[in-house]
Amino acid sequence: MMLAAELALAEVDVALVERRPDHVLAGSRAGGFHARTIEVLDQRGVAERFLAEGQVAQAAMLAATVLDMSDFPTRHPYSLGIFQNKIERIMAAWVAELPVQMLYGCEVAGFAQDGAGVDVALADGRSLRARYLVGCDGGRSVVRKAAGIDFPGWDATRSNLIAEVELTEEPPPGIRHDATGIHALHLMEDGRTVRVVLTEQQIGSGPDPTMEELKEALITVYGTDFGVHTPTWISRFSDTTRQAAAYRAGRVLLAGDSAHIHYPAGGQGLGLGLQDAVNLGWKLAQVVDGTSPEHLLDTYHDERHPVAARALQHTMAQATLQRRDERMQALVDVVSELAVMDEPRKQIAGLISGLDIHYDLGEGHPLLGRRMPDLELATADGPLRAFTLLHAARPVLLNLGTPGGVDITPWAHRVQLVEATYGGDWELPVLGAVPAPSAVLVRPDGYVAWVGVGDGSGSGLEEALTTWFGPSSTA
Ligand SMILES: Cc1cc2nc3c(=O)[nH]c(=O)nc-3n(C[C@H](O)[C@H](O)[C@H](O)COP(=O)(O)OP(=O)(O)OC[C@H]3O[C@@H](n4cnc5c(N)ncnc54)[C@H](O)[C@@H]3O)c2cc1C
Repeated sequence: MMLAAELALAEVDVALVERRPDHVLAGSRAGGFHARTIEVLDQRGVAERFLAEGQVAQAAMLAATVLDMSDFPTRHPYSLGIFQNKIERIMAAWVAELPVQMLYGCEVAGFAQDGAGVDVALADGRSLRARYLVGCDGGRSVVRKAAGIDFPGWDATRSNLIAEVELTEEPPPGIRHDATGIHALHLMEDGRTVRVVLTEQQIGSGPDPTMEELKEALITVYGTDFGVHTPTWISRFSDTTRQAAAYRAGRVLLAGDSAHIHYPAGGQGLGLGLQDAVNLGWKLAQVVDGTSPEHLLDTYHDERHPVAARALQHTMAQATLQRRDERMQALVDVVSELAVMDEPRKQIAGLISGLDIHYDLGEGHPLLGRRMPDLELATADGPLRAFTLLHAARPVLLNLGTPGGVDITPWAHRVQLVEATYGGDWELPVLGAVPAPSAVLVRPDGYVAWVGVGDGSGSGLEEALTTWFGPSSTA
């Protein structure tokens, strides 16, 4: 849905093919997302919709330690607790406001690509023709498999049952750890439904466990099944960790869980996928409308693959730290001593929150390849938040130096030039203070593509504009 929104904002003709009959999700599933994902939604002017229905909290954790990031230089120095069924409802409402064809109840069975497009076969025998196909179809992605893209990684070492049920007996509060992993019983908003997460003694198989398996697992951990009844959702997940070897095969691309799966410890999955979509959307739009050559799409893999690889490594470590025999507890204690120290706290919170993402766009000013901060700018028309400039998902050249000092006339129809001033400090999460630039070129995903410094503010600008937003109109 995020990718469909991005493409629609860029005026691409987009259809979203979803096998479910509607956006409604059977269970609550993921529990929220972290700061950079909130920022990304803020860049499109929709963060408030999610914030209004969730609860902000310091929820970036390493082992047993909360990594308080309330001092991070961002408008959103926290995580947002909001279940995935709510997230998908809000997202679906937003997408419905945009020109997106929603094809619910349609299952993709395969595809065939040629030099000009992709024929997408639906399970009911129909087919669709598109210039490009993006598989956002989850960990068991049909698109990834049909594209023949390898999915190397690590097999499961443990599995968890997750369920929403009612109990006749009062459950103990809080989270339990033992040598197998984590167990938790959590009373939900309605005051009746309990969300159960249990690590299984043996690795279970299949995504649809039974009520009997749930009862047995409860008895194993708690000595009782608490009179469990009325399940509305029972599912299973594991710590299988895999990443697509390539995010693109010709006209077919992957985003979200189809490109990377991992244990949900740390809660990074949803945000990773959403940010894949925001990285890919404008690039695909520019290739579709002929603004940029096809190889711009390769920067999607180059930028996003390392980000997910790092998150996968981190979640494997987090998952390992959930096991608590005495030796593991000793490791958790050591890690906890480190995690409260300032530098490790910042480093790990930067990773979990996604605020430290640095795309390798070459040597230069520290802002290059990093997120544009949501500064309070002064313009001739009054105050303006930097993120407001990104609502339309278009590139922006922000001139903060001598008015009229930057000329982008040959790109003026593609890149918005904004004259502004900013007198405050430039501070980046984890890195700290950086020298004030005189101009910045910001991509539609909010990452800085070029930085002007001092009087030589124009040097390298044309090259950056051409690389990211296609050749000039005079070229
Ligand atoms: C218990 C649990 C807790 C989690 N907690 C968190 C958390 O706190 N924070 C977090 O960020 N992440 C969390 N995650 C991970 C998160 O749920 C996933 O990363 C996220 O849902 C991935 O989104 P996606 O859109 O890529 O894939 P999915 O959510 O799997 O969506 C894929 C969609 O494609 C559709 N589809 C699949 N195949 C086809 C087909 N052939 N044709 C048509 N449609 C198809 C599916 O119906 C589905 O709607 C958690 C996951 C679990 C299991």
